[in-house]
Amino acid sequence: MNLEKRMTKRAGLAAVLGVILGDVASAGALMAVCGEISRRARSMTFTFDQVHLGVPDPEAAARWYRQYLGATRGEHTDRVMCGDTRFIFLKNEMAAPSRGSAIDHVGFSFADLDAGMQALNGSGMRVTTPVTEIAGMYRSGFIEDPWGARIEVVEDPETIGFHHVHLQVPDPAVARDWYVKRFGGAQARLKGHVDGLRYGDVWLLADRGMAHPSRGHAIDHIGWRMADLLVAAATLKAQDLRFTTEPHPGPATAYAPAMMSFAEDPWGGKTRVTPALSASGPGPGLS
Ligand SMILES: [Zn+2]
Repeated sequence: MNLEKRMTKRAGLAAVLGVILGDVASAGALMAVCGEISRRARSMTFTFDQVHLGVPDPEAAARWYRQYLGATRGEHTDRVMCGDTRFIFLKNEMAAPSRGSAIDHVGFSFADLDAGMQALNGSGMRVTTPVTEIAGMYRSGFIEDPWGARIEVVEDPETIGFHHVHLQVPDPAVARDWYVKRFGGAQARLKGHVDGLRYGDVWLLADRGMAHPSRGHAIDHIGWRMADLLVAAATLKAQDLRFTTEPHPGPATAYAPAMMSFAEDPWGGKTRVTPALSASGPGPGLS
């Protein structure tokens, strides 16, 4: 296998999927319903629940997202709500910029992008691509938050606030197919131009490119919520989703789920490390 092929194989989403749970089924119930759930899961859409970002000071980052990106308070000071999605900040002094990782950037939409950019001036962000009109789409530009998370800022009146997650993968069509088979999502075309998956108001988009695993980058991983993690995990394993951390009890806090687990997509290779968990992790909550 030549180098390019090896790199392509290793590249990919590297999306470490934080999978959280509301309630726990017994092992017996699991056995009984597994077959049915397996059939149902093929057409099931899980809830896109969270984006985890690595920053040196989670509380400062949470304040920044509230001040400049319209986020609201979360269940804890290390997190905010962007619409229905949790942005959870993990303590990481050494996070690499998200650009070029498998989760390259997230998108935020402003009703008035010029006003939004004006407000962001002096916030510590860096403009990496000035705002321009994308024909047939909307006005769009790119910034980096003060900690290296790449953010596409757009003016899409149909969805204001948190707008999309943008993956970088060797083959976008294959990645979309992989995600829709395991996590559901409505296949749609953004502005009639860009294929993607919709999870509620959030778009999951994918561009073609070589990427590093997301773990350890400023956008570390993304997560879905499912009603019953044990049942869903059995189904997802049957679909070759590789769990790096099996479902297990989460930290005993009022704002954390009862159980959690982590998995990797098939393009992550073996080079990635399972995120730290619970009390031994880098911060409270879903670390
Ligand atoms: Zn984008």
